[in-house]
Amino acid sequence: MDFSHYSDEPVRMAVDLVNSLDVVSGQETLEVPGDVASFIEAHNGDWCRPGWQPGERDLHEVRALRSRLRQVFEAATDEEAAAVLNDVLADMEAVPRVSVHGTAPHLHFESEAGSPARYLGAITAMGLSVALIEGGFDRFGICHSSTCEDVFVDVSRNHSRLHCSDRCTTRENVAAHRARRRAG
Ligand SMILES: [Zn+2]
Ligand SMILES: [Zn+2]
Repeated sequence: MDFSHYSDEPVRMAVDLVNSLDVVSGQETLEVPGDVASFIEAHNGDWCRPGWQPGERDLHEVRALRSRLRQVFEAATDEEAAAVLNDVLADMEAVPRVSVHGTAPHLHFESEAGSPARYLGAITAMGLSVALIEGGFDRFGICHSSTCEDVFVDVSRNHSRLHCSDRCTTRENVAAHRARRRAG
């Protein structure tokens, strides 16, 4: 079965959702319900995009979803990660549905009939599930920077990624260089 359309954008969506809360500084990107709509808008992909007007409750549910998705990255084993994903998939009612909106019929697991949280939950949990199945658990990482705990899914060929972003890599390299110079 081809789940390839759950391999790129949904994974990015999951990572961006988890990182929408900076757990080190406490900086929150999803501050008001409208931020949920903006988040969905900014992650447009190959699926329906219902014109929801998220409310306070949706904001609360999406934040709760976010902390569950973070647990996938914080899991100690693939078994633990899979258990979290299976719970989210079940709770978000991720059910296969045949879509004919593209060039050929294909499966989607999120529904327009649910809520923004269920919609985001089904897409992101599917994305992380496909990433886990196809890439393995060691692709899931948390930034090694001392000042950042953002998550990432490593798609580098040799699984060598240590940081969430180039920005963190650069900052850590500069810090390491300065420390070496001080030591020398
Ligand atoms: Zn589609
Ligand atoms: Zn980072």
